[in-house]
Amino acid sequence: TFDMLVVGGGPAGASAAIYAARKGINTGLVASRFGGQVQDTLAIENFISVKATEGPKLAAHLEEHVRDYDVDIMQNQSVVAIKGTDQAGGLTEVTLENGAVLKSRSVLLATGARWREMNVPGEQEYRGKGVAYCPHCDGPLFKGKKVAVIGGGNSGIEAAIDLAGITEHVTVLEFSDVLRADEVLQKKARSMGNIDIIMQAQTTEVLGDGSKVNGLAYTDRTTGENHTLELAGIFVQIGLVPNTEFLKGQGDQADALELTPRGEIVVGRRGETSLPGVFAAGDVTDSPYKQIIIAMGDGANAALGAFDYLIRTPVV
Ligand code: FAD
Repeated sequence: TFDMLVVGGGPAGASAAIYAARKGINTGLVASRFGGQVQDTLAIENFISVKATEGPKLAAHLEEHVRDYDVDIMQNQSVVAIKGTDQAGGLTEVTLENGAVLKSRSVLLATGARWREMNVPGEQEYRGKGVAYCPHCDGPLFKGKKVAVIGGGNSGIEAAIDLAGITEHVTVLEFSDVLRADEVLQKKARSMGNIDIIMQAQTTEVLGDGSKVNGLAYTDRTTGENHTLELAGIFVQIGLVPNTEFLKGQGDQADALELTPRGEIVVGRRGETSLPGVFAAGDVTDSPYKQIIIAMGDGANAALGAFDYLIRTPVV
């Protein structure tokens, strides 16, 4: 039995495990892939105090730091179900893909999220070579260049406004005939001189020269005509999907874990969820901004929240 079982080995999970282990409690960590999204990131320039690094390097440092502590690490293992307790002080059960059931007095969920992809030819090939998902992270790489934003929801229009201040020009491509972004954002975007918005545009291919993106192809859904745009970068903003599938349809207990309509775990100021003893941190939660430094802070916060819970809750 663990005192704290962390699920996830990204920035949030790693940070939580270190904070827990430093309290001298029995800490475990289960992760399908150590490093999480950081493994898929090339340049990282906004992890404060480290001017520039690369994803796999930061992921290796995360793992090294966790291994410096007495944490029982179960790598390459996925959690398929959790069964909460309705009684404070009870044990939460975590079921792994291989059938093993782990029990812990507190569980900290840090399973992160994944960007929804366009699934068009060229997207995978040019990922990190012009195809980007995070304007806060990669916007400055396209300074003075032309870029496109795919998606006209809040994140797409926010990205366009953000990128318009850095790049030469931004074209927003929206699949449907309405922009779902808030009116105030649409107004702001339309007031900027270097943003064009194309409606009913279905992106069909990412074009490149073999080493980097140089354009994209799309179909005008009203006329059926095909067009191409010349540009250096494509920001895909069609949704961030939280990794919470394993929490759904698990019977009454897990269903009690409150999620937002988008599937994010609802947390309080101490990372607590709606289930006693279950905490959550990082991109998997309803925290508004998804960044490495924020996920790490969240992980520390939730681990301290869980520790507070443990010292106040008698074992039943
Ligand atoms: P994640 O990093 O998603 O980690 C989730 C962890 O949970 C992983 O270990 C995963 O294997 C594990 N997991 C998931 N499901 C299960 C399961 N069922 N069972 C067991 N384990 C599970 N942020 C920045 O600050 N700067 C950047 O430059 C930057 N660039 C980015 C570039 C790209 C291409 C991407 C995709 C993201 C980028 N981000 C960047 C965002 C940043 O990576 C995330 O905000 C951060 O990794 C979130 O950390 P996390 O620990 O919450 O989740």
